[in-house]
Amino acid sequence: MFYSRYFIPTVKEIPSDAEVISHQLMLRSGMIRKLAAGIYNYLPMGLRSIRKFEAIVREEMNRAGAIEMLMPSVQPAELWQESGRWQFYGKELLRFKDRKDNDFCMGPTHEEVITDMVRREIKSYRQMPLNFYQIQTKFRDEIRPRFGLMRGREFIMKDAYSFDVDSSAADSSYEKMYQAYHRIFERCGLNFRAVEADTGSIGGSSSHEFMVLADSGEDAIVSCNTCRYAANVEKAEARNVQSAAKAEQLPLQKTATPEMKTITDVANFLRMSADKTIKTLVYSSSAGEHVMALLRGDHDLNEIKLKNHLSWDEIEMATETDIQKITGSPVGFLGPVGLKQKVTVIADLAVQGMINVVIGANEKDMHFTNANLERDFAPDRFVDIRNVVTGDACPRCDSGKLEMWRGIEVGHVFKLGTKYSKALNATYLDADGKEQVIFMGCYGIGIGRTVAAAIEQNHDENGIIFPLPIAPFHCAVVALNTKDSGVMAAAEDMYKKLESSGIEVLFDDRDERPGVKFKDNDLIGIPLRIVVGSKGLAEGKVEVKIRATGEVQLLPIEDAVEHIC
Ligand code: ATP
Ligand code: MG
Ligand code: MG
Ligand code: MG
Repeated sequence: MFYSRYFIPTVKEIPSDAEVISHQLMLRSGMIRKLAAGIYNYLPMGLRSIRKFEAIVREEMNRAGAIEMLMPSVQPAELWQESGRWQFYGKELLRFKDRKDNDFCMGPTHEEVITDMVRREIKSYRQMPLNFYQIQTKFRDEIRPRFGLMRGREFIMKDAYSFDVDSSAADSSYEKMYQAYHRIFERCGLNFRAVEADTGSIGGSSSHEFMVLADSGEDAIVSCNTCRYAANVEKAEARNVQSAAKAEQLPLQKTATPEMKTITDVANFLRMSADKTIKTLVYSSSAGEHVMALLRGDHDLNEIKLKNHLSWDEIEMATETDIQKITGSPVGFLGPVGLKQKVTVIADLAVQGMINVVIGANEKDMHFTNANLERDFAPDRFVDIRNVVTGDACPRCDSGKLEMWRGIEVGHVFKLGTKYSKALNATYLDADGKEQVIFMGCYGIGIGRTVAAAIEQNHDENGIIFPLPIAPFHCAVVALNTKDSGVMAAAEDMYKKLESSGIEVLFDDRDERPGVKFKDNDLIGIPLRIVVGSKGLAEGKVEVKIRATGEVQLLPIEDAVEHIC
């Protein structure tokens, strides 16, 4: 590419409305320009980087067996009404009507659309596992769009959706994506952590967020310096009931039951227990549907299964009366207050002798029965992980110390269970010809956000230092004295040789002062720079500089090309 015929509108001044460094540098290096709040033009250099990252994502998704397709960004309201999210999603969902007065929205995510496709096309267990992905534009009417591509309203996401016959098959689809995500972010050379995450408004049973570590990150995460424990602070808080008990070696009795992943598992467990007139508090905090049910007096435990499949946000949106209506009178819900408050309420009830307790968790052997609430859940024993500081003991292992980080959420993997397939009635026939509900997972990566996060981690006072895999060009060839025909000929020759061996080269042929060229080239952050000048050329040499280290080598022209290729 000839710089003089290309379009890289660099800017010297730091734009006043850009708070974080990646936003400043993406504007200054001419990668993006704002059209409206949270809505951007991707200029040629920005687009090249984005396409590079997309290519890595595609390769790894394909390698993991996912199948690419493309869904529309405009989605009919009916599907969202079917899933219940039309009511619950809130103002981030941009809604509008067509000329016939039908309701539509701009897709912030595609669970409904893909589940609708699958329920029409998939009939048999033989057709699964399946995992569909797309790289597509999303719209979320974010309350505070900011930081450029990091929190836009219109943004590009890779989203994938897996479909499996049962929960354990879904687990292995999840694992594949989890591994693929590791490869994707490793290939970009990013410093990241996969952390246990809250399932937020998407709901489901288990999830991990992929966090690029950066001070400007909006999320707080903790990780252990010894074991692999890492969590979003929100989620870490929810884990703490188990952690506190474990850390203090309380004589809680582990259940001999299988892993209880959902409230249904907990209900099944109760159903098998000897006491048939149980007064029970069922609490499933983590992997389950995030519900807590207080069962007063005799209660048919079958109803738990049928009635308690409400996600956190559904509970949050509903009033107590709504909940009573949905669940029937014997069941009351404690809303999504902070865990600390929940624990207080539980403790109160326990002291009054009103309830028994079962604690669910998302990890094998981390379930406890016979919890003594007064002893184990006394609020003053409860450590709020939000107050944790660097150096505190790890809740998972004995020797580790916690470290606190700020992180940018670049990817997110969820086990959805049957939340959407149930709501939209996506079923299949099993080997015995019986109808079964499909198990789903969903997996997102913010494309623009990852490129921004990479810049957040890779820059210096002069500009961007692109990791090679997502750099807009691999190499810049800078011709210093454009009036010197020998220099221009040698530089162009080098440019052509490099291009023909598959290196992407930006040939800076502009009639500008060397200072201007060096400044621009540093700002746009191309990993390798070759400078061809009259002086060096007289000795048959060019200067090769590595942007990241500043390392400079004078090499004979012939060697330079070979050296790079
Ligand atoms: P956040 O917590 O930052 O609002 P999210 O949890 O709402 O993100 P997901 O629904 O998990 O986002 O979407 C998958 C991925 O899409 C995120 O991990 C992130 O990389 C990206 N993403 C989400 N919202 C935005 C946005 N407003 N701008 C750019 N990328 C985004
Ligand atoms: Mg969000
Ligand atoms: Mg999030
Ligand atoms: Mg998320």
